[in-house]
Amino acid sequence: MSELLKKKKNGYLIVPEEEKMAYDYCEGYKSFLNKGKIERFCVEESIRIAEEAGFVPFSYGTVYMPGDKVYYNQHGRAVIFAIIGSESAEEGFNITAAHVDCPRLDLKQVPLYEDGGLALMKTHYYGGIRKYQWVALPLALCGVVCKRNGETVRIEIGNDPEDPVFYITDLLPHLAKDQKEIGGEDLNLVVGSKPDAEEDGQPYKTSVMKILNEKYGLTEEDFETADISAVPAGNARDIGFDRSLISAYGHDDRICAYPELTALLALKEVPKKTCVAVFADREEVGSAGISGMRCSFVSDFLTELCGDKNARRAFANSCALSADVNAAFDPTFPSVYEKRNSAFVNHGIAVSKYTGSRGKSGCSEAPAELLGKLFKIFDDNNVLYQTSELGKVDQGGGGTVSQFLAERNILVVDVGVAMLSMHAPYEAAGKLDIYHMHKACLAFYENY
Ligand code: MN
Ligand code: MN
Repeated sequence: MSELLKKKKNGYLIVPEEEKMAYDYCEGYKSFLNKGKIERFCVEESIRIAEEAGFVPFSYGTVYMPGDKVYYNQHGRAVIFAIIGSESAEEGFNITAAHVDCPRLDLKQVPLYEDGGLALMKTHYYGGIRKYQWVALPLALCGVVCKRNGETVRIEIGNDPEDPVFYITDLLPHLAKDQKEIGGEDLNLVVGSKPDAEEDGQPYKTSVMKILNEKYGLTEEDFETADISAVPAGNARDIGFDRSLISAYGHDDRICAYPELTALLALKEVPKKTCVAVFADREEVGSAGISGMRCSFVSDFLTELCGDKNARRAFANSCALSADVNAAFDPTFPSVYEKRNSAFVNHGIAVSKYTGSRGKSGCSEAPAELLGKLFKIFDDNNVLYQTSELGKVDQGGGGTVSQFLAERNILVVDVGVAMLSMHAPYEAAGKLDIYHMHKACLAFYENY
């Protein structure tokens, strides 16, 4: 009788021999996280890794041959990697699509001010954050300033343990009886507290600008032409006596992006289908904008690879993993989950037939045919996976980039790593699941 029933089992009990491989794999992942705290840095680092493996920038008009490895850099904020397959392009692409932007606090265009003996900077949060989590912790500043003279200045302060960090204050418990929540305008970064002795107008601002001018050649108006974000300053660390999870800023969604790329690099033979890994930007704010999945750059790039007249047929024959995170069951907050349909940490990658909210609204649901074919591939290649729904019906919900692939007539399913504390400054995810995301992408590229 029991063979008729499906058992949920922790992956470590199914493949104990993979523990070392998973832990070793995650060392590379942790280093990737530490180097790529914002989407630009993530794009830089992934291109560096890909170039080492022989990828070259895509060039218009070049005829690519099976086995060629190219990447397309979308304004330094999104990137697509592709390995040309042996079949003709109209047979379709095997696409994995993750995002490399994460919730964070962006500097406003006029950020710097002084008040109460402090120099501070105004921020505007990006993505869905619970604001109370972002106060009273060390933050780093990452980004670029594009000066009017054409010079681009890279800013990264706070990630090196020797660097100073930045900090948002919160009320002391002794005076917090009236505080209900942290407001968006309360997320002000402390950036200095030493007045400039020669300046009596705005001595604290002046003192900060003198440092920024000396180190980076900046004046106050350069903030108007900058993309700078405050992100958690700490590095990725192992969690638990058994070191089986990782605490890090930005798992969502580098935890899927990194495996997409490592799986491409792990292809031993020229794949049949052209295999494509997309690192998109802007997902956390609805995928709008020049580097988001609503922009045509992904379909334009694929069209360049297969030729205009074949593009529609190629898309119709393509399949995509919308690679994004899912919520793992959290025993401290069981009431928001429906346990039978939740994913559990280290039980394998999480596959969601649908996302959305309130009656699946706004989701792209994967058809049963696709899931049947995909799960057979996962079974044949020893990929650990579990089905997963974000939480209880009507508890909330969320979306991914899957709908924007479906809009281009590309079959798509949501696949990713289930994690704890999603969108918190430090999120948590299991190492075995991360490794199996790599195995899942590889099996998909080779066999779909
Ligand atoms: Mn995500
Ligand atoms: Mn997210």
